[in-house]
Amino acid sequence: MCQCFLSDARFYRLLFRIDQSIAEEEQQAGCLCGGVLHSARYPRKPRGFRLALDESYDYRLSFCCARDGCRRRRTPPSVRFLGRKVYLSVIVVLSTALQHGLTEKRRQGLIEMLDIAPQTMVRWRRFWHELFPQSRCWQAERGRFMPPVEIAKLPGELLGRFIGETLSDRLSQLLVLICPVTTSSSGFLRAEIDPQKMRS
Ligand SMILES: [Zn+2]
Repeated sequence: MCQCFLSDARFYRLLFRIDQSIAEEEQQAGCLCGGVLHSARYPRKPRGFRLALDESYDYRLSFCCARDGCRRRRTPPSVRFLGRKVYLSVIVVLSTALQHGLTEKRRQGLIEMLDIAPQTMVRWRRFWHELFPQSRCWQAERGRFMPPVEIAKLPGELLGRFIGETLSDRLSQLLVLICPVTTSSSGFLRAEIDPQKMRS
């Protein structure tokens, strides 16, 4: 099975650099109280393609306000980690993209190789078809796509709407578009659909 960019360390370093630049902007903006944000990263142990991941994948970038009495947590959007899911976002996208992603054989190969449980696939499909469409992020972005992207065909159809020579190019663009849903302040109906509470 050709994993191509999926087992290429450069692809993951690129995603990390995107995360870094998003995080730098958030840090410069500072806390709502005016306080300075200090690094307070979350340890992570993402599944899939471990050999291609350097130590930057051992944590998710996050900040905490330095001001006593505030200490507000601020976790920037990420193109690498989708809430608390243990698999990287790239895997959550590619394993559920029935169109415009990997060929069907490779998609099934990815699921088998990473030993993704059937109930996990059910949850991920539910994420794409029920939770993601309700997110503020998608509500804001869906109008960019004409004709409208069919919800039932997410995320594959969305992947096919980006212009890029390679699948990894289109995938990176999709990850940037959806990254607002990776934080708890993403505009989900918090109690029901906080992605931070959606495990695996
Ligand atoms: Zn603060």
